[in-house]
Amino acid sequence: MDITKSGYVSIYIFDVFVRLFAPWKNINKVWLTLGYSHAAFKASMTYDEAAQRLESLDIGSFLYRMSATKIGQWAIAYRTEYNVLQSIPEKQNLAEALIEGVSDGRYRYPDGRQENTDIGVLAVLAKDEYEEIEVPEENWYKPIGSTFEQCKLCYDHVKNVKLEPCGHLSCVECLRKWRMQEANKTTCPFCREEDRSSATIKFTYKPDEKRKKTPPKTIPEENSSPKSALKTMTSLSPPARPPKPGRFSPIAPTIRAPDPPEF
Ligand SMILES: [Zn+2]
Ligand SMILES: [Zn+2]
Repeated sequence: MDITKSGYVSIYIFDVFVRLFAPWKNINKVWLTLGYSHAAFKASMTYDEAAQRLESLDIGSFLYRMSATKIGQWAIAYRTEYNVLQSIPEKQNLAEALIEGVSDGRYRYPDGRQENTDIGVLAVLAKDEYEEIEVPEENWYKPIGSTFEQCKLCYDHVKNVKLEPCGHLSCVECLRKWRMQEANKTTCPFCREEDRSSATIKFTYKPDEKRKKTPPKTIPEENSSPKSALKTMTSLSPPARPPKPGRFSPIAPTIRAPDPPEF
């Protein structure tokens, strides 16, 4: 992909490039390692071309191409025992998506080549600046159908911000609503302590833990017909969740976990 044609880069192309080769911190390395020189990188292949190419290759062969239906996102195609599947990693950068597929054996051979993809290199490329929060082994929230990661103010989103110095976790949407309600005071919605800063967080799990594997964070890549797009959209309706209080009142949530050490 030539993004510097005549020394000019459009904002649109720049935006697409930044999304494709995220995270920003490693964008040059990601582009060189996973874009420019990687065997599995197929810049402008279509859905049908990818399927056709992989059909003749070994099981575990994979390639990735720029999605034609979701601009700025990758579609990863891989050959299984029975057919070729294509999926778009949601909320993951390319390196994170590859780590997941390499780990569970979906992505073994880049474009059919018998060479191993180095997870260590991918892990370095995937890492953006965020604070890692280790998820406790014991799931206190199971009895109420929730998880540690779920935001305890809205039950809609995953926690993604940590407040300092109190250390409470919530999602950015709830924090924004709380601050609007509090006339932009910078307090914590849980303990009302004054916040000095906040950090973006990402959950990690103990590596030795034999956790039940969560399904990959990908959705099936459909062909670009409106019918299938509609099917994808309807299948993405939000899951059932605990009822919410009438107004936004995070201090007194209606549903409480049995006294967990929330942070
Ligand atoms: Zn929330
Ligand atoms: Zn707090």
